[in-house]
Amino acid sequence: MNHRPLAIDDAASVPWDAIVLGAGPAGALLSRRLAIAGARVLLVEKKAFPRRKVCGACLNQDALEVLGSEGLETLVDDQGGVPLEMFHVGLGGRSVRLPLPGGRALSRERFDLALVTKAIRAGVDFLPETLASVEPTPNPATRSVRLDQRGRAAIAWAKVVVVAAGLGHRALEHVSGTTTRVAPGSRVGAGCTLEDGPDDYVPGVIHMAVGGRGYVGLVRLEDGRLNLGAAFDRGFVRSMGEPGLAASSVLAEAGFPAIVRLDQADWQGTPGLTRRSRPVSAHRLVLIGDAAGYVEPFTGQGMACALASARSAAPIVLAGLASWSPALERAWSARHASLLGRRYGLCRALTASLRRPLIARVVFNLATWAPTISQMMIHHVNRPSVLAETSPTCP
Ligand SMILES: Cc1cc2nc3c(=O)[nH]c(=O)nc-3n(C[C@H](O)[C@H](O)[C@H](O)COP(=O)(O)OP(=O)(O)OC[C@H]3O[C@@H](n4cnc5c(N)ncnc54)[C@H](O)[C@@H]3O)c2cc1C
Repeated sequence: MNHRPLAIDDAASVPWDAIVLGAGPAGALLSRRLAIAGARVLLVEKKAFPRRKVCGACLNQDALEVLGSEGLETLVDDQGGVPLEMFHVGLGGRSVRLPLPGGRALSRERFDLALVTKAIRAGVDFLPETLASVEPTPNPATRSVRLDQRGRAAIAWAKVVVVAAGLGHRALEHVSGTTTRVAPGSRVGAGCTLEDGPDDYVPGVIHMAVGGRGYVGLVRLEDGRLNLGAAFDRGFVRSMGEPGLAASSVLAEAGFPAIVRLDQADWQGTPGLTRRSRPVSAHRLVLIGDAAGYVEPFTGQGMACALASARSAAPIVLAGLASWSPALERAWSARHASLLGRRYGLCRALTASLRRPLIARVVFNLATWAPTISQMMIHHVNRPSVLAETSPTCP
């Protein structure tokens, strides 16, 4: 990463236009977009980059279209993204293969680093290994953020603060009136990457093992490693003792090839997945990506949604740099709700049906016997929604 290091004291002495919290796809893309528009942007990330992230690591056509519309059409292929052609679902010992053209598999280490590098090249100042939290009291003209880096703390301020800190962040814990509601019974996520794994898990295919208490998605990455991203009932992981055993059990239940010593892999977990934050905008504050809301990942739309929310929030943040008004808050709430509704509607329905064995079997049989219907569903999930979002109007 070509980037001059920034000390937190330096970050605290500069009047920023925007401070963006979290350097995942949402934060990196929005930062870059703001910098290209001439804004002075600080991107703060609590981890050292590149970093791992629990994810299925599949970018669908929708995500690629958003990147393309931002002039980043070659980014994923330049990083060696593996073309995806097929969705292979297993349930109760039977499996079906459905065409799924146009997506790419790419490790989150590479993808997120590539996006951050693009942001830095556009002029964004990147501050990694720094925990950021929004200060409780806003000023009329600015919003301030506390930065904590290896035992040192400083306060930085900006005209607009964007929270793109993903699931379960605590960046707003001191700000009254903002809440995150996790859906009752929400599943938890888990993931790991294996150096090899059985050859049955071929490249170019999303292998999805579905069980009664969770599902596991497996995909080959650009370097041949096997990426696993899973969602489990919380009680199931607890009863199995750890996510590797839960994943082995789901693979066996689905009739997928076993993976030896899966329990010894380096698993990471997430908090409850399905959640919603309220409000998604307040005085000089905007929430985007998973930080604003998320639905269980079965249809793999998370990154598309995060990127689209970054793209869609950019005009609102830019308008807020000139002059903030409550109308901007209302505009972002409305736009965000429509963005999430468009992308997550089918995902909600599918994940709910997977929890009911009978309905899951009916959906599976439908996919097997009526491929046209399943292809319509895949098209719906995969389709680019960019055109609807390219010309937002700001109040
Ligand atoms: C099991 C699983 C499988 C998935 N599979 C897919 C898939 O195949 N395809 C897909 O498109 N999506 C998938 N997703 C969803 C996808 O991972 C997310 O939707 C996407 O990463 C959201 O991007 P984001 O930028 O909003 O947040 P993130 O990518 O989570 O980035 C947030 C960043 O903020 C940082 N951060 C957190 N708190 C702070 C703080 N206080 N200060 C500074 N930095 C902070 C974090 O370290 C992180 O780097 C999956 C998710 C799960 C759980």
